[in-house]
Amino acid sequence: MEPVLTIVVPCFNEEEVLPDTIHQLEQFVKQLTSEQIVSNRSRILLVDDGSKDRTWEIIYKTGLRNEHVRGLKLSRNVGHQNALLAGLFAAKDGSDCVVSIDADLQDDVQIIREFIDKFNEGNEIVYGVRKRRDTDSIFKRHTAQFFYKLMKRMGVDLVYNHADFRLMSKRAITELEGFKEVNLFLRGIVPLLGFRSDVVYYDRKERQAGETKYPLKKMLSFAFDGITSFSVSPIRFVLFIGFVSFFLSILFGLYFLMLKMLGETQTGWTSLITSIWLIGGLQLIAIGLIGEYVGKIYKESKQRPKFIIDIDTFSMPIPRHHLIRNNEEEEFYKMDHRKVSETT
Ligand code: UDP
Ligand code: MG
Repeated sequence: MEPVLTIVVPCFNEEEVLPDTIHQLEQFVKQLTSEQIVSNRSRILLVDDGSKDRTWEIIYKTGLRNEHVRGLKLSRNVGHQNALLAGLFAAKDGSDCVVSIDADLQDDVQIIREFIDKFNEGNEIVYGVRKRRDTDSIFKRHTAQFFYKLMKRMGVDLVYNHADFRLMSKRAITELEGFKEVNLFLRGIVPLLGFRSDVVYYDRKERQAGETKYPLKKMLSFAFDGITSFSVSPIRFVLFIGFVSFFLSILFGLYFLMLKMLGETQTGWTSLITSIWLIGGLQLIAIGLIGEYVGKIYKESKQRPKFIIDIDTFSMPIPRHHLIRNNEEEEFYKMDHRKVSETT
């Protein structure tokens, strides 16, 4: 059986590109269906993220004429990540795999074929990774590069040069639902799911029309969100500075004391300057310590799943004797829960 595919597209004020995007995606899904790569129950799911222009009208009308196009209108603008999430969760039921792609089709639609191949090989997640970024502005390229490096240094595992163009299996999305945090940074969470995954490289094109919905302000807040929802290193840094300034204060204290002995200071200066350094250092340490606890509370409050089970040999959908006969890895992976079509 061919897998049922849903392509999820978050749209925010995209009236300029949307008609063309929808046309391309419709053609593409039609092609895939006729080549029997995906099931004819495959769909396109357009999520309107509280647009102020004609975006919803376009989506709605398309839905009326094509039963393979489904529209989802959010009550207000919730941002790319959340809009995407709404789409993924809505698409999950009734799909074997879901691909997310931006409305401006900067990412190459044809690559989805390779996504499906990889999915059929048993991968639960397939990341689209840009080969080069020369279609982005120099500024965007450098800031993005800096962002990936910074995240890496702070201990966050991101797939380099991967935006939100990816395939996720039904299972992967189900597990994603277990991450209850409000500030969900998808690019950081998805690798945390584990599972078998692979990457596909592609060239990113320029935005076809309209302008970027990620101006500098949104980019910065996106980056800040990413860092603060994954890493407590900023807090650790405060603690570190606290210790440094505390030890410096001791050194300086000795130095100032020496100056006093030599009689080279004003009265009162030594005690004053030493206590400024000392108190400053102690305060930073205290703040850092409190921060550590706040960081712990923060982690707890997210209630992330502590583990995710990949395979449980007692709940395989296939008769176990079959499993034992073909216990090669490939066979093993083919026999998972991923196909709704097989389990229902
Ligand atoms: N988007 C969204 N909500 C927002 C901002 C953006 O749903 O608040 C969508 C937008 O319609 C597009 C995708 O997120 O489909 C990526 O935006 P864009 O292409 O402008 O970002 P860039 O490629 O410039 O990083
Ligand atoms: Mg774009």
